[in-house]
Amino acid sequence: MTAKVIDGKAFAAKVRGQVADHVARLKAESGLTPGLAVVLVGEDPASQVYVSSKGKMTVEVGMNSFEHKLPADTSETDLLALIKSLNADAKVHGILVQLPLPSHLNSDLVINSIDPAKDVDGFHISNVGLLGTGQKSMVPCTPLGCLMMLRDHHGSLAGMNAVVVGRSNIVGKPMAQLLLGDSCTVTIAHSKTKDLPAVCRQADILVAAVGRPEMITGDYVKPGATVIDVGINRIERDGKARLVGDAHYESCAAVAGAITPVPGGVGPMTIACLLANTLTAACRAHGLAEPKGLTA
Ligand code: NDP
Repeated sequence: MTAKVIDGKAFAAKVRGQVADHVARLKAESGLTPGLAVVLVGEDPASQVYVSSKGKMTVEVGMNSFEHKLPADTSETDLLALIKSLNADAKVHGILVQLPLPSHLNSDLVINSIDPAKDVDGFHISNVGLLGTGQKSMVPCTPLGCLMMLRDHHGSLAGMNAVVVGRSNIVGKPMAQLLLGDSCTVTIAHSKTKDLPAVCRQADILVAAVGRPEMITGDYVKPGATVIDVGINRIERDGKARLVGDAHYESCAAVAGAITPVPGGVGPMTIACLLANTLTAACRAHGLAEPKGLTA
């Protein structure tokens, strides 16, 4: 079997197009322009790339982008003061603090100081609780993007066995909550799971979010299953820098029914969902109808 490739790049372009259409309508009908503020502390090269591409795509869909670049030695007091001012700013509907923060800053404290209604990353404790209890929340972008691709590929996910490998707060746990919300039977696996390949072979949907290059090989995959590869790992092979996933693409694609590639799978969907979340936050803030198909 050769798996169908789930083209996250094309799907993300479609989602950004839907966001842009909705933003244009909002501007025309309500005079409202959604705005996203991104806060970057320090000069981590990968974070700088993410932040500049987020800013560029925010502007491309017609929204306002506010970038706040702070030095690496910014004090917690100054960062919290900035977030307080963004919380109070009516032009700002979404706030994202780029992680990881420098080690002298308490990430939990910083994230939980964001107004939950503007928490477009969905990491605030209130949004985590709302998602866990099946209530309307801001949903973390990466798992939301995975869910959209799965719904698009399968239609209903009800009754499917899903295995999520990884239990982080930003990917694994919210991914499992979303799959449960769509009535999958969900297993969360992690580094202490016994006989991981056998657990994974139970999955109709296998989500790899481990942060280990190409760890999930074809012998972890049930024939015909859908593999969602969240991993982004920079490695060197044959003297060249490469980006690979947490799944070993060739061996998994030989067994799976469908698979997301790296690059061009989950990654582009994450930014598209950030834009969708900002639009959703703006609509909610003004009591307007939310965009259809762009929320969980
Ligand atoms: P974390 O390091 O926070 O979590 C990794 C998880 O994988 C942990 O729960 C860990 O288990 C588990 N794990 C590690 N080794 C093994 C193993 N040998 N067997 C089973 N489970 C294992 O990573 P993140 O969740 O932040 O990220 C996961 C991946 O997704 C990374 O490659 C990251 O780069 C990528 N990513 C991609 C994004 C995108 O936009 N596409 C966005 C965010 C992340 P335990 O808890 O027991 O230690």
